Amino acid sequence: MTTAQKETLGFQTEVKQMLHLMIHSLYSNKEIFLRELISNASDACDKLRFEALNNADLFESDGDIKVKISHDADAGTVTIADNGIGMNRDEVIENLGTIAKSGTSAFLEKMTGDEQKDSQLIGQFGVGFYSSFIVADKVEVHTRRAGESAEDGIRWTSEGEGDFTIEGDAKATRGTTIVLHLKKDEAEFADSTRLRHLVTKYADHIAIPVEMIKEAEPVEGEDAPAAEEEWEAVNSAKALWTRSKSEIEDEEYQEFYKHIAHDYEDSLSWSHNKVEGKLEYTSLLYVPKRPPFDLWNREGARGLKLYVQRVFIMDDAEQFLPPYLRFIKGVVDSNDLPLNVSREILQDNGNISSMRSALTKRILDMLKKMAKNKPEEYKTFWEGFGQVLKEGPADDFANKEKIAELFRFSSTKGDDDAQVVSLDDYLERAQDDQDKIYYLTAENYLTGSRSPHLEVFRKKGIEVLLLTDRVDEWMISHLSEFKGKTFEDITKGELNLDDEASKKELEEAQEKHADLVERIKAKLADKVEDVRLTNRLTDSPACLVVGKEDMGMQMRRMLEAAGQALPEAKRILEVNTDHPLIAKMDSQSDEDRFSEMVEVIYEQAQLAEGSQLQDPAGYVERMNKLLLSLLEG
Ligand code: ADP
Ligand code: MG
Repeated sequence: MTTAQKETLGFQTEVKQMLHLMIHSLYSNKEIFLRELISNASDACDKLRFEALNNADLFESDGDIKVKISHDADAGTVTIADNGIGMNRDEVIENLGTIAKSGTSAFLEKMTGDEQKDSQLIGQFGVGFYSSFIVADKVEVHTRRAGESAEDGIRWTSEGEGDFTIEGDAKATRGTTIVLHLKKDEAEFADSTRLRHLVTKYADHIAIPVEMIKEAEPVEGEDAPAAEEEWEAVNSAKALWTRSKSEIEDEEYQEFYKHIAHDYEDSLSWSHNKVEGKLEYTSLLYVPKRPPFDLWNREGARGLKLYVQRVFIMDDAEQFLPPYLRFIKGVVDSNDLPLNVSREILQDNGNISSMRSALTKRILDMLKKMAKNKPEEYKTFWEGFGQVLKEGPADDFANKEKIAELFRFSSTKGDDDAQVVSLDDYLERAQDDQDKIYYLTAENYLTGSRSPHLEVFRKKGIEVLLLTDRVDEWMISHLSEFKGKTFEDITKGELNLDDEASKKELEEAQEKHADLVERIKAKLADKVEDVRLTNRLTDSPACLVVGKEDMGMQMRRMLEAAGQALPEAKRILEVNTDHPLIAKMDSQSDEDRFSEMVEVIYEQAQLAEGSQLQDPAGYVERMNKLLLSLLEG
């Protein structure tokens, strides 16, 4: 029999780091331990109900599911007991000895050692069971899995200092009992009034009754009777989403969010809806404040918590959300799905796809409202999740315009890199006859905002969006237009601003400088596709453009970074004959000198757009030679 064996095991390294951080950084918000433990107890009860759908024996003649909280002021203990699913030995070790969450190591890597900063990080991670050690210097977990025999009970004990012991200890009733031995300074928690207050604050939204011992009414003239213990529910024990919106406080919504999302911070916004008709369901959807660590991990947990007729069915039901909304947390409770619904059934159920499109619309509307009414919150949202949302147009053709309304960019109208310009803002400011949305892609804001390509747009007062996300060019290629206006990359193709005067001017210049263009072209024959005069530039001598249908530089960099081998890109050099350097080159009769100048101008055009030179040392050499000739005059 292995159950009697007592073993001491070490926590996973990450747990130790986590515990240390927790104990030292959450002292200002100690009471949350109770929320976390009740949240776990409630999850355990949900799991029991779910497993019992197929195996009613798991109830062990006690179908009355609840959580009980008690205390002993003399001993300095608080006890949280549930009759949920419980854990077997392996589960105890797995769940209470390691951090199984994906992204943990990414989380820990981000830790700086600066406690102030790290305590904010922990908020993004969720705190969970280990928060017990904020107030306790010893924690005992006595548990038995539902359906197993009493002798299979397990006792886990730890002082939170690197290791825990585990031993067999019979337990007659299923479920988990957690005893917190409070630290001396935290004895205040072993108090009925305090605990009741915390339960109403943190557990009112929980669908399972959380009970405490009824306070004995003092009877006058008599000593307090040693009355039999009588338990009463302290919370309202009604699933939050089943209550009507008007009677739910914001705080309750936020508490519920923290419970289902395992988040420590408030959400940014939520949307709660009951749908009646052909399909009946209730949804409660939340936008978190910060991205989880596994937002980019394809295997990461995502999706909604699914209930069928108020019975918990599964976590992370991803079928209810399109991938580009994978950051949304929440609950969907259906009246129409069968209780034995599985992931496979969800996959190809027509009702699910109509629910998904309805939920998608709700979320897009909620985000739109947030953008309009709570711009500060929206800014936080955009910083955290904008990149994911940009997958939208490629993912969800039907909603691409609604999605695009939510996008924010920086533009030439702003004077910093803040991404605050919406496409609607852009169109509102656009010139009357402007039928395009002009944009430029760049590695970063500084390079983009100083690009020579912008010169003529600045001169004419036309706004240009500055797109600096790696995914932008790819995203725009799927969006292709917005409210009837097409997108135009200002570094692609010939610039056509429909301006007769400048067209004519360009034609005249072309005639006048035809020889110069040919001369330059001859020097760069193996480097560029073509050389031509430009009407894009006012201040710079030259810039590079790609053909209308060619891949832009950002897309190229993205694909190359992903390891794709691409054919070499030959571009078009456009030169500005209004620039004195170009104008005077015509008179340069020394062929070598002319050659060097052409080379340098070509290289400068690459530098100005933020590209890497093929031969940087060669450029330095050429520049120095030219500088020297200046000194030698
Ligand atoms: P989370 O709740 O985010 O999964 P926790 O640290 O709160 O993380 O809990 C870790 C795991 O321990 C839970 O996922 C669950 O499997 C297990 N656990 C915790 N408390 C209980 C309980 N009262 N009954 C059964 N299992 C529990
Ligand atoms: Mg938890």
